[in-house]
Amino acid sequence: MRPIVIAGNWKMHKDLRASEELIRAVRAEESSFADSPVQVILCPPFTSLSRAADLLRGSRIHLGAQNMSEHNEGAFTGEISWNMLRSAGCSYVIVGHSERRQLFGETDGLINRKAKKALANGLTPIVCVGETLEQREGGETVEVVSTQVRGVLEGLSGHDAGRTILAYEPVWAIGTGRNATPDQAQEVHSHIRMLLENMFDARTSQRIVIQYGGSVKPDNARALLSQPDIDGALVGGACLDSSSFWGIIRSTPP
Ligand code: PEP
Repeated sequence: MRPIVIAGNWKMHKDLRASEELIRAVRAEESSFADSPVQVILCPPFTSLSRAADLLRGSRIHLGAQNMSEHNEGAFTGEISWNMLRSAGCSYVIVGHSERRQLFGETDGLINRKAKKALANGLTPIVCVGETLEQREGGETVEVVSTQVRGVLEGLSGHDAGRTILAYEPVWAIGTGRNATPDQAQEVHSHIRMLLENMFDARTSQRIVIQYGGSVKPDNARALLSQPDIDGALVGGACLDSSSFWGIIRSTPP
């Protein structure tokens, strides 16, 4: 049985004080989640990670970062290494978000190296894939997403693949308020699941958590999370407000 994993990607929002406020607000509702099997991850900006780790001490909520260097250390101005993330209290890291791909030129090859670096060093990567609107309208969704999945997981052992989280995030649904319908999302998720079986084996494919991301909100979360191959959500805008983030967590089917 795969866990349901809900991760909040704060993107470039919240300075230190605003981060503290949001984490305190999230924690204030945490007791209602004490018996839930759902895994919750917060991914604040780098500058808030260490303070977030302090504020999450004793909590079941995990901490993740939004990006990571493919290198261990060295002359890479502005970059952040796995070791820095680990020492700041992270156990997860998002790699290959579509904004990184589109705005910062990240390729499947680079994302693959980052995922491997994370896995080799005790961080669980949340690896993002997804097609643009143009690609969807051109009927290329399955081909594009398959190429991305093959590229970002290339060379991983079945064991490491099984420890990786994939996030299917159609680019046209991110930050637009336009989510994929549950059927549209399930169709791609089940295709990814089959592809993973071909790349690895049935057991590994059944172990891999595949999140959906793209305008997930409290009012559409339940229908999306009820799909058999949707194992959680990567949430942007709606995680910046504690009650809407909790609304999504509480929408997970029993
Ligand atoms: C995201 O940033 O990964 C995302 C899915 O954003 P939003 O929920 O705002 O569409």
